[in-house]
Amino acid sequence: MYSHCLFCQTTFGQNLELERLPVGRRIAFDATKGRLWVVCRACARWNLTPFEERWETIEDCERRFRGTQVRVSTDNIGLARLPEGLDLVRIGKPLRPEFAAWRYGETFLRRHSQRVIRRAARVVGAPGLVAAGPVLAATVGPVAPLALAAGALGAIYYLLRRPDLRIQLGGSRDLELSAEQIRGALLIRDDTDPNGWAIMVQHLKRLDRFDWLRFGREYDPNWAVLYGQEARLAASLLLPKVNPLGGDQARVAEAVRWLEAAGGPEAAFRTFSRSHLVRMPLDNVESRFTTLHAEVRLALEMALHEEEERRALAGELSVLEWVWRHEESLADLADGLGLPADLDQQLESLRGQSGGG
Ligand SMILES: [Zn+2]
Repeated sequence: MYSHCLFCQTTFGQNLELERLPVGRRIAFDATKGRLWVVCRACARWNLTPFEERWETIEDCERRFRGTQVRVSTDNIGLARLPEGLDLVRIGKPLRPEFAAWRYGETFLRRHSQRVIRRAARVVGAPGLVAAGPVLAATVGPVAPLALAAGALGAIYYLLRRPDLRIQLGGSRDLELSAEQIRGALLIRDDTDPNGWAIMVQHLKRLDRFDWLRFGREYDPNWAVLYGQEARLAASLLLPKVNPLGGDQARVAEAVRWLEAAGGPEAAFRTFSRSHLVRMPLDNVESRFTTLHAEVRLALEMALHEEEERRALAGELSVLEWVWRHEESLADLADGLGLPADLDQQLESLRGQSGGG
């Protein structure tokens, strides 16, 4: 295989993923017609590879494409990005999207173990503080326990009312939520919005200069309803907070099933905001994230990851489809597989004439 683009002479660069085709950072393949191209990143032209070098690499590409979970496709063409950064462009009918448990298993497991450690620290810490009171009273007199009690109250205030999450919507629109408000965040159905869902949160009132005197921050909560991109941003910040346990492999697998049942990552928020089956029976009327089944919350978190990465790829796809049509007609000629229709007719008629003569 050549190492330079046939059209602009730019070097393809290397890839470590494809054993038989170690050049190029974007590879296009068509398993049905047995075609393989190296796409030039400089001029975007597709370089058709020689016949004899295609087959094993096409198989390799197909296998890797199927193994990749983040991919986008039209009816004719699909695009996937391998974890190492190699892009695969697959010509042919789209594959049914599936979601891999392994991609998330590790993230959620890591969170799970961190949470267990933090909780253990808290369990040891709180009784320790309570036990310290009498001990201090006996040793240094009554002032110290009073100070301790005041400190404990402050600590409770700090835990319950301090901003635990900041949703940055830009300047004065930034929202700050306490831990309690995070637990109260709602996923609501909204048919007036094109996405069909929204997020509704109570948030701490922003303090202006004189609010310090009123100490009023926690007594005056505001409500905000977020849509579209802002709702996604809020969800991406809220969900890790309300998915405290992360998940072991079994829970992640269950979340994947929920996601598939919802109709995939794009539909997950819309579907779950409408379903009564995603909560425990007694929680049916509540729209809170926290009353969703834990696996459903994980599924929503997965949906956000998938969607974000798909969006990044989707922009390129429409252009790729257009380029592919052009390159395919060139490949037809190069491979001598499909001659133009009128040429076929001409040959046919020539044969008829010669046969008749
Ligand atoms: Zn080029």
